[in-house]
Amino acid sequence: MDRASFLKICGVLGIGLPFQSFLSSCEKPLVNASGFNGKVVIIGAGAGGLSAGYILSQLGVDFEILEASSEIGGRMKINPDFADFPIPLGAEWIETKTMTLGEIVNDDRVSIGLNFVEDDADYKFVRYSWFNFFEDYLLPSVRDKIRYQEVVQSIDYSGNEVKVSSSGGLFSADRVIISVPLKVLQEGGIFFQPALPANKSEAIQNATIWEGFKAFFEFSIPFYGDGFSVPVSPKESGQKIYYDAALGQDSNHHILGLFAVGEPARMLSQLSSEELKINVLAELDEVYNGQASAFYLKHTSQNWQSEPHIRGGYLSDHEDWRLVKELGKSINNKVYFAGGEYTDGEDWVSVHTAAQSARRAVEEMLS
Ligand SMILES: Cc1cc2nc3c(=O)[nH]c(=O)nc-3n(C[C@H](O)[C@H](O)[C@H](O)COP(=O)(O)OP(=O)(O)OC[C@H]3O[C@@H](n4cnc5c(N)ncnc54)[C@H](O)[C@@H]3O)c2cc1C
Repeated sequence: MDRASFLKICGVLGIGLPFQSFLSSCEKPLVNASGFNGKVVIIGAGAGGLSAGYILSQLGVDFEILEASSEIGGRMKINPDFADFPIPLGAEWIETKTMTLGEIVNDDRVSIGLNFVEDDADYKFVRYSWFNFFEDYLLPSVRDKIRYQEVVQSIDYSGNEVKVSSSGGLFSADRVIISVPLKVLQEGGIFFQPALPANKSEAIQNATIWEGFKAFFEFSIPFYGDGFSVPVSPKESGQKIYYDAALGQDSNHHILGLFAVGEPARMLSQLSSEELKINVLAELDEVYNGQASAFYLKHTSQNWQSEPHIRGGYLSDHEDWRLVKELGKSINNKVYFAGGEYTDGEDWVSVHTAAQSARRAVEEMLS
């Protein structure tokens, strides 16, 4: 069963498993039951890595985050300048209940005063983003522990200590949490000594990772309404959706978003900026009787394939949950995985599932 059908069944049965498991694990405060007082190295400062560091900081465990780029956030990146609200170039929707934000922060002293707008079954931030949320609520607890431009190249977990070698030097730790995009592991971006167990490396190699692409077009009038989905066949090969990116933002900017993963994203990411404009306006003109070309102002885009430390979109929605579960499993009580692609197989590739997986990894590490 794949993610889409699993979630559908949960919905039909009223189970809501992915959310409930997060809730139940968040209801009990995490404790360092093992008395572990060693050091943890976290690789990657996206949603998974930042969440892992944040939880460890709450528990008083020593840790360091090695980030390959010069910024936090990974696939939560925003463009703050295109409009008068942040444009989410990757993660945009809150694909769960908004109370999950409080569960991620997990601190009664902090009140979360944010506004949201409902969008079908999901929510969106109003004049805010996932990136802003991590920057405001989690980053202050981990800021001093992040080392930027540290591209991790190898992990030696053969001895008592784990030795992590990066572009900047050698780091020793008692445990390591890997939170890099799955595509980085699939392409052999990190060398493991000893080699990863067969089950894990097979899952990594067999996983279908969709390409990811987003574009935002500003028009002088909102002729497009709610937008529309472009049919993709077979459905396992990806998605392509035009949507009102300014929904609920109380903005005078009329911005149409284009979200694409899989085959449509692969096609779009091969176009130059001018070719993209011609291609998109032609597609929209056909649906909206030439209004796109008439009212076009400007556009911007994000090709996730060309980000050197991301290299793709995300794990396909249609992946088999058993393979996903394998991706999230730890190795030898030393190497742990956290992030959108390293979950327990119940749900994956959202920001909240990345945070959830970090909690699970830390929980297991300290049990
Ligand atoms: C187009 C698109 C749309 C999306 N829309 C949504 C949405 O609406 N809602 C939602 O909830 N989710 C969405 N997602 C998914 C969501 O963005 C991801 O699941 C989540 O951000 C992944 O977090 P992560 O920490 O696992 O990985 P990432 O955010 O990719 O972070 C990994 C980090 O590891 C670093 N890194 C890589 N290699 C190395 C190395 N060798 N050494 C050190 N550091 C390294 C990277 O620089 C990066 O900072 C979307 C994703 C895409 C691509």
